[in-house]
Amino acid sequence: MGREAPDTLKNYINGTWVGARSGAAMESVNPATGETLGLVQRSGPEDVHDAVRAAAAAFPAWRRTPAPRRAEILFRAAERLVAHKEDLAQLMTREMGKVIAETRGDVQEAIDMSYFIAGEGRRLHGYTTPSEMPNKAAYCVRAPLGVVGIITPWNFPMAIPSWKIVPALVCGNTVVFKPASYTPLVALRFVQILEEAGLPPGVLNIVTGPGQGAGEALVAHPDVRVVSFTGSTETGLRLAEQCARLGKRISLEMGGKNAAIVMADADLGLATDALIWSAFGTTGQRCTACSRIVVHRAAKSELTERLVERAKRLRLGDGLRPETEVGPVVSESQLDRIHQYVQVGLQEGARLLVGGSRVRDGGLDRGYFYAPTIFDRVRPEMRIAQEEIFGPVTDLIEADSFESAVEMLNDSRYGLSASIFTHDINAAMRAIDDIDAGIVYVNHGTIGAEVHLPFGGTKETGNGHREGGRQVLDVFSEWKAVYVDYSGRLQRAQIDRG
Ligand code: NDP
Repeated sequence: MGREAPDTLKNYINGTWVGARSGAAMESVNPATGETLGLVQRSGPEDVHDAVRAAAAAFPAWRRTPAPRRAEILFRAAERLVAHKEDLAQLMTREMGKVIAETRGDVQEAIDMSYFIAGEGRRLHGYTTPSEMPNKAAYCVRAPLGVVGIITPWNFPMAIPSWKIVPALVCGNTVVFKPASYTPLVALRFVQILEEAGLPPGVLNIVTGPGQGAGEALVAHPDVRVVSFTGSTETGLRLAEQCARLGKRISLEMGGKNAAIVMADADLGLATDALIWSAFGTTGQRCTACSRIVVHRAAKSELTERLVERAKRLRLGDGLRPETEVGPVVSESQLDRIHQYVQVGLQEGARLLVGGSRVRDGGLDRGYFYAPTIFDRVRPEMRIAQEEIFGPVTDLIEADSFESAVEMLNDSRYGLSASIFTHDINAAMRAIDDIDAGIVYVNHGTIGAEVHLPFGGTKETGNGHREGGRQVLDVFSEWKAVYVDYSGRLQRAQIDRG
């Protein structure tokens, strides 16, 4: 990768590493230590324009490249990701803070997605169907859309971009990628690996820079046909309005307020293990994090005791240390936001059982560490039970029946991930039917999606699209219906058809 000065990384546009036209840069900082890791381009609309132009110019040749050939490049990218898994994971832990076991998992998701989608290059199936008329073939094929704009958050800095970029490319689109400003270094490395795998110039471009500026310009650009966005509901809905006005497709993956139900007959040891990692893994900064635990009255006191005991013992620290279980949150502003929510919870009358404060002791004063926090006596209507906190905070909500537990779980504007712990097969099956969410787990935490199943949520979590699974191909392609008439004459019945 070209360097303008030590540690100043460039955008990748049209197969070349280039600086922002303004010459402005921005920092990437380690949230565990405050250390500056490097500088990247602070790009603006003019750089986005260059990238979109390059992607538009590369589109005709890329769309004509047979899908299995496109997929071979993506397969090679998967091989390179495997070879670089450890150094990518280490960079990711330093840049966004989550512990090394989790960043290895994040890279692994990108590997899994790349292998999975490389296989799809030979399976971009359409279908044939009988025509209404004799001597006429009728079938449909998937067609690429053009230039795709991809905007991603910082919490899964490689997995989420891979879930979007790799399927967009296999479908024959070209891409302009604007990563989150907290995690540009990982994003640049990911693009570099795809470049080394053999993508032609212009097929994939990356422009680092602020959402308000580079991101807005990407969404607004007339040559961008599709936008795929993961991030906050507030930003996502704003972008959806803009895309609606411009007649563009947008796929949204937004907030969550995920809940787990623990029934009276549940294995409480299993539920405790699973919920500790669902609530506090990635320091609570997963879109699938469990931030509400709806527990049956009969299991409440034992589950509470077990969760609090485990939460107190979680070891906070730099995610690169093997003994660390919970890393820092991504930034000081995110830490302040979490702490404000804890104050809201106290004002609303919830009872703080553990946590609720910043942690500075034990050499953690330079990073953004927050103690794993559990609230009890939470009522479903409280703000801490309704609003996404995106930090290591979870709520205990008491239910007195299966029906009321499901009702409380569904009492949310979001619908991403949910789970139920029970040995009652009837209750489990009814929960699968009745829970209003895109992902449902049984006897499992709210986290742990696999690449070959559809990923996404209902209500204000999304807008009906699914990324992940073969369903992601529907985001990045559109259907073309084909009729081939080999009768050699105008068939009368054609005239009254649409
Ligand atoms: P944002 O929605 O602010 O940012 C997500 C991405 O959108 C980033 O790349 C960001 O750029 C970009 N962006 C921001 N504003 C615009 C804009 N006006 N036009 C185009 N792009 C824009 O989310 P954050 O990353 O700040 O996280 C905040 C909240 O989002 C979290 O607290 C959580 O609630 C939610 N979230 C949900 C996730 C999920 O997977 N569902 C993942 C991450 C966050 P930049 O980084 O430069 O601001």
